[in-house]
Amino acid sequence: MTSLSPVLKQATPVVVDHASGCWIHGTDGRDYLDFTTGIGVTSTGHCHPKVVAAASEQAGKIIHAQYTTVMHQPLLALTEKLGEVLPAGLDSVFYANSGSEAVEASVRLARMATGRPNIMVFQGGFHGRTVAAATLTTAGTRFSAGFSPLMGGVHMAPFPYAYRYGWDEQAAVDFCLRELDYLFATRTGANETAAFLIEPALGDGGYLPTPPAFLQGLRERADEHGIVLILDEVQAGCGRTGKFWGHEHAGISPDVLITAKGIASGFPISAIAASAELMGKAWPGSQGGTYGGNAVAAAAGVATLGVIEEEGLVENSRARGEQLQAGLKQIQAKHPVIGDVRGYGLMQGIEFTDADGNADAATAARVQQTTTKYDLLSLTCGPLGNVVRLIPALVISEEEVDEGLKRFAAAC
Ligand code: PLP
Repeated sequence: MTSLSPVLKQATPVVVDHASGCWIHGTDGRDYLDFTTGIGVTSTGHCHPKVVAAASEQAGKIIHAQYTTVMHQPLLALTEKLGEVLPAGLDSVFYANSGSEAVEASVRLARMATGRPNIMVFQGGFHGRTVAAATLTTAGTRFSAGFSPLMGGVHMAPFPYAYRYGWDEQAAVDFCLRELDYLFATRTGANETAAFLIEPALGDGGYLPTPPAFLQGLRERADEHGIVLILDEVQAGCGRTGKFWGHEHAGISPDVLITAKGIASGFPISAIAASAELMGKAWPGSQGGTYGGNAVAAAAGVATLGVIEEEGLVENSRARGEQLQAGLKQIQAKHPVIGDVRGYGLMQGIEFTDADGNADAATAARVQQTTTKYDLLSLTCGPLGNVVRLIPALVISEEEVDEGLKRFAAAC
């Protein structure tokens, strides 16, 4: 008899029977308040009726037509919808299936467009698990352990993790920008650098908002040296941070934007957007893939973007995020093991520390496991493994946030 692989066996103790909105109903008969959303994916809640209807209807029309051979209507509609929310100038889009593929495509594009080899990533960044995405990922060595050699040409600069540096944000930003300039002067020239690749808020790297002044500093250097600024909005995009795009918190615009997760409420699709001029630098056939931009996923994406707009989910993410953060700070005041509470919108991280301020991964793991006992689903993250992250659906109500806070406090 075949059994699950060891990787799947170590998965959560919860087996889903069915799910709806912010709730997962387990085969054990328990109702779990889901603050994980499939790692930031089911933005409109589980099985939103409009998303279910759009996908079901589409499955009866056409499921798949590879879009470089035969275009289909859902992809045209999704492109039009994305056009309403993308930053000005990013007027060309293509599609893949996952965040990692979109990341790889953006890096290929930057190299083809500039003719330069190097990509600058930032400490703690997480960009996926394919070999190239794992190279670009610096959130922890576990993502590349055991399968080197990795892709060449990737360089890493420091990220302004102000809390762990023990500095104020501006001091951390100044230090990191100076270090970046130093790297350019001594190790990898700015004129050999094709792209900066960064998240507007670190996801797996600890739910750390990227300081606006840091993104502004990268934008200035990108303009000065002809470097392509790629923003990885795979997790932070589509309303998650209380603005439609995470980079709006910094008031800057990227040259390339990649998004996935929250764009289609759980159907696998990712999008890469850039100016038509930049996109035109990729040779035909160098991008895309067999399943990219699948018709059912695209239809779910159109419905998802519609729901985000009609139900005011960006505003809800902001308001409920503020409520969640305020409640977490009250819990922090009673628990010295919580060193920091931070995040944008419905992307909140709780960093656990010992009495000396050192990372305490064991306590984070204990709290995360205990939340499940209180029927609240949460996740850990962070390069040091000591952050619990809460990522509820953007449809969450005030009462559900309060309920989640009550369960989290009980688990601490
Ligand atoms: N980029 C970011 C910011 C992510 O959070 C993730 C996944 O968690 C990825 C890229 C990779 O996406 P995927 O797992 O769909 O390949």
